[in-house]
Amino acid sequence: MNSFIYLDHAATTPVLPEVLTAMTPYLTESYGNPSALHQAGQAARSAVEYARLSVARTLNADPSEIVFTSGGTESDNAAIFGAALAHPDKRHLITSPVEHHAVSEPLHTLEKQGYEIEIVPVDRYGRVDADYVGSRLRPDTLLVSIMYANNEVGTIQPVSEIGALCRAAGVLFHTDAVQAFGKLPINVVAQNIDMLSISAHKFYGPKGIGVLYVRQGVTIHRYQQGGEQERGRRAGTLNVPGIVGLGKAATLVCNEMPVETERLGKLSSYLIERVQNDCADVYLMGSTTHRVPGNVHFCVRGVEGESLLLALDAKSICASAGAACSAGSVEPSHVLSAMGVDRELARGALRISLGRATDQAAIEKAAAVLTQSIRDLRALSMA
Ligand code: PLP
Repeated sequence: MNSFIYLDHAATTPVLPEVLTAMTPYLTESYGNPSALHQAGQAARSAVEYARLSVARTLNADPSEIVFTSGGTESDNAAIFGAALAHPDKRHLITSPVEHHAVSEPLHTLEKQGYEIEIVPVDRYGRVDADYVGSRLRPDTLLVSIMYANNEVGTIQPVSEIGALCRAAGVLFHTDAVQAFGKLPINVVAQNIDMLSISAHKFYGPKGIGVLYVRQGVTIHRYQQGGEQERGRRAGTLNVPGIVGLGKAATLVCNEMPVETERLGKLSSYLIERVQNDCADVYLMGSTTHRVPGNVHFCVRGVEGESLLLALDAKSICASAGAACSAGSVEPSHVLSAMGVDRELARGALRISLGRATDQAAIEKAAAVLTQSIRDLRALSMA
């Protein structure tokens, strides 16, 4: 048993015991290279293909449309650079201001190379307007890349609507579903998604393994040069244990999704209500209706998020002051800025993300420690 209460599942999740059990043989006796033709290689190949089928099923994709990568960052980079390399005649791309850096940075690189990157605005809940996105599509639009759900405030984007508009206009649509997979139903066919990124460590699989779904008929060029693995779409020896773990975790979380998301929804609502009842000037950021289950994001007036985080950590509660990747930076998050949250309030950002091990007792403790920490820090700043 851990001695801490872990409430940072949006940053990463533990590997489930069943997932570890599935992976272990591929770290020990079944170590063949799946590209090798001998029996050791073919045993590994079968495991990879089974995992490919498993993850494809969870997305309503065909197994041939699944490309294994090293995680969400690589999937996002491969989608964006891969599309740009394959379609050099199209130079206009559309995105939102609340994307993860794994999307915004590759786009920024393209911008420096002369591409036009159009950033559509979000409302105060962090949501883009699908019709507005549709109105910006042009004959030279290469790609729309808009995330499925936000990693900080948990806002869910109108992915199906954007997908339909892009498909009708013949524009590629990529969505970063790293925070959505396993928490929200995804159907790449019904939602007209051309490319989609996921990462195993966000859904109880291992770190360093992900998927880029690429719809049949969509051409992207690989930007990493090397071997012919993944039908020439991603060079490099396959991470067999990671792939097996990803496949197992994907099946498990998707099977349990209806029950688990309802449970997490109730726990989150309870936490929000308790903290807001006990402390004034604590604001829930993001949307109440379009929100990833298990995400709670507060902005606390008059308190630094980092101080709150440390106060919680001192009581063995792990949370996040915004997004893990920007921890340590004093600048308010780009997500909150895009939502129009004032700078001072944005400094009091705290993300609490619940997961499978979170129970009522953990939430009671977290609520009590959080409200006390807010009071203590406010008293300190008045002194
Ligand atoms: N996209 C989103 C929305 C994320 O939350 C993250 C991780 O925090 C990533 C991409 C990057 O994924 P990975 O850590 O697998 O590279």
